[in-house]
Amino acid sequence: MLLSVINSVLEMQSLTRKADTILGFVPTMGYLHKGHLSLVEMAKKQCDIVIVSIFVNPTQFAPNEDLDNYPRDFDGDLKLLTELGVDYVFFPKTTEMYPAGYSTWVNVEGVSEVLCGKSRPAHFKGVSTIVCKLVNIVNPNYMYMGEKDFQQIAVLKRMLLDLNLETVIVPCPIIREADGLAMSSRNKFLDTQQRQDALCLYNSIQHTRTRYQQGCRTIGELIPEIEQIITKNNGKIDYIEFRTADDLKPIDQLDKNTRLFLAVYIGNTRLIDNAPLLSQ
Ligand code: AMP
Repeated sequence: MLLSVINSVLEMQSLTRKADTILGFVPTMGYLHKGHLSLVEMAKKQCDIVIVSIFVNPTQFAPNEDLDNYPRDFDGDLKLLTELGVDYVFFPKTTEMYPAGYSTWVNVEGVSEVLCGKSRPAHFKGVSTIVCKLVNIVNPNYMYMGEKDFQQIAVLKRMLLDLNLETVIVPCPIIREADGLAMSSRNKFLDTQQRQDALCLYNSIQHTRTRYQQGCRTIGELIPEIEQIITKNNGKIDYIEFRTADDLKPIDQLDKNTRLFLAVYIGNTRLIDNAPLLSQ
């Protein structure tokens, strides 16, 4: 089947309501890279029909953030998705998702208030709202999401459970460049020096893993070491935190269920990364 582009909510809904097949869904904001494509490949392996949405969701950006500059390349995205054998691309206009008079929001308490939720207070409200709408429109059996946005998965799992939505999230591993930088649409904003500096996130992860293997269990010892790696590379720290992998609770001591979470500004570009302490 050839890939079809659907712009209308009603059309998407009527297509997926009829389906008696296993539907896989990959929500994205476009400007696709190998990280996104790995989700599509996983969905292709596990589902009969694969739908990818491309929608730069304005409600998850604060007024001072990069909504207007967010990179876009619809034709390039379509080419990549055609090559992978995607069945439908849902590509709605902003007014299709948020028509005049739009007034309803989904707010997941608790897990959305830590880490990125602290520095981007309205972000997860926008994410939960748009993903809730997309799940209602696409009605997928499985939704494929990257662990690059680990907190996003935790927030959305909570939302699906609380709102009795039957879609199941399939978390997929972080895809990295050869030197370890997590792939991200925002990496495009880095100049040559900043691209080099951006390695401080992955280097912090590697350093933490080495120290953990050497027996270090003390957060108070590790944080200053990570701070040094980041600041030496011109990074501005938003947060460095160790939390439990399952519910993102703060911890006193490192153990095998701990995950490191990082958000760092390289120039004006905010990069995030995270990893378990034992390499996978
Ligand atoms: P975005 O277009 O940034 O909203 O991302 C769409 C989906 O792709 C989300 O589930 C992300 O977590 C996932 N994603 C983004 N970058 C990566 C990556 N480097 N590895 C794996 N998944 C990713």
